[in-house]
Amino acid sequence: SNELKVGTVWATITLPNNKTIKTPTGLFINNEFVDSVDGKRFKTINPVTEKEITTVAEASEKDVDLAVDAAEKAFNEVWRYFTGAQRCKLLNKLADLMERDLDELATLESLDNGKTYKGAKAFDIPNSIEVYRYYAGWCDKIHGKTYESQKKFSYTRREPFGVCAAIIPWNFPITMQSWKLGPALACGNTIVLKSSEYTPLTALKVATLIKEAGFPKGVVNILNGYGKPTGSAMAYHMKIDKIAFTGSTATGKYILKASSESNLKKVSLELGGKSPSIIFADADLEEAVKWVHSGIFYNSGQCCMAGSRIYVENSVYDEFINKFKEHTENIKIGDPFESDTYQGPVVSKTQFDRVMGYIETGKKEGATCLMGGDRHGKEGYFIKPTIFTDVKEEMTIMQEEIFGPVVAISKFNTIDEVIEKAHMTTFGLVAAIFPKDTSRAIKISNELKVGTVWVNLYNIINPYSPFGGYKQSGMGRELGKYALKEYTQVKTVQINLGMTV
Ligand code: NAD
Repeated sequence: SNELKVGTVWATITLPNNKTIKTPTGLFINNEFVDSVDGKRFKTINPVTEKEITTVAEASEKDVDLAVDAAEKAFNEVWRYFTGAQRCKLLNKLADLMERDLDELATLESLDNGKTYKGAKAFDIPNSIEVYRYYAGWCDKIHGKTYESQKKFSYTRREPFGVCAAIIPWNFPITMQSWKLGPALACGNTIVLKSSEYTPLTALKVATLIKEAGFPKGVVNILNGYGKPTGSAMAYHMKIDKIAFTGSTATGKYILKASSESNLKKVSLELGGKSPSIIFADADLEEAVKWVHSGIFYNSGQCCMAGSRIYVENSVYDEFINKFKEHTENIKIGDPFESDTYQGPVVSKTQFDRVMGYIETGKKEGATCLMGGDRHGKEGYFIKPTIFTDVKEEMTIMQEEIFGPVVAISKFNTIDEVIEKAHMTTFGLVAAIFPKDTSRAIKISNELKVGTVWVNLYNIINPYSPFGGYKQSGMGRELGKYALKEYTQVKTVQINLGMTV
């Protein structure tokens, strides 16, 4: 039957320090953790040990229907009558509870994804909290405009869609939740969010906090599941009016197609990248090396904005390469729970095989593997930081998103040449440039076909600056005021003040 069943929806899991925590493993529908209708479950794996952490309920199309029905009912009966101030209070409360449980959230994020505990605690969770607070501030500031003439008065309203959907990836689970839930809820929508099949745990922990914060039942529903059938059922669902997706460009295209083949739900997409870091001869090389290093190796290279192509001006090429290699050699790879670890494993066996495949292709196509190029250790999905030099534009590792700790480096002589090279991929998410001269920095920034340009830094994202891609890196913008447009639709009301027909 399609009834909600309450079953074994919590598990006790053992942490690397041998402590145990109780974690939800059900689907979160109507503020309750429930089994899936047909009882299916799947494993989530610790990428350090390759062993199962626990199993979670897997949503089928039937569970998607239940979650959407819950979200629709909550919107129609409760949430649409909440004032901005009330929504603001709830989002701030959620942020407070995440602060209280920072340690547990960081632990789960690290355990499930393989990212460092230190990084999760210092960046992923605090940044997500900031995003919730930022959108809490918008709740009572979303309004339309008025247009007046003598005999007519018209105004616009910015209205929520109703039921929104979000499908998120595994590389920044908790951050991606906040980028979707924050603006969707601030604008007055209810939502069904599907986490990645590789990293379901923190979304479920956040679900407990959503309930504790006092969000009415059905406002936020969280599903565990695979792309097919779960994500696909959401993308094709006739009662979902807006879908936000982050992940690969191929899946982004699928979501857009599903929208056009179903109900033309509005779509926003944050997709892949092959972002260039450009080092000019006048750059502060010491600083540039550190920034571009984090640009590619942060989060084991599993970032949509990873600076996976580095172009260095000919006259400083050798010096840059030496410094970059030396810096990379000093980085510790290993247990993500150790405080001096910089790089943990990649998220999964699939991702490990995919990245190793790209490394082999790079070698076969004739690029020089300056360092790395191999697995690290015998157990876990660890890949050594890998630097390829002498990489030609047409090579696969210069064109395709690898999503691992692998960087392709080449040199250039003129600005025109490097801009042309920077544009020679299908992506346009970000670019980083390292010149000393600021007027040159502005001119080059204006030329680059990307959604974000970083000048003398990397990986800097804040809640108030829009983020998104040019070309095949996406559609629409997340964060900042721009995201509010993605979660509202505009209504015009025309009022007759004395016009006759
Ligand atoms: P993916 O795009 O397949 O998965 C991302 C999310 O989409 C997951 O929640 C997944 O379950 C869901 N999904 C997959 N197929 C779907 C479908 N047909 N309908 C609806 N939802 C679907 O990405 P992946 O397989 O996890 O990783 C593959 C590659 O994608 C990576 O190597 C990387 O290049 C890229 N990627 C990019 C990002 C990013 O932040 N831009 C994040 C993750 C992966």
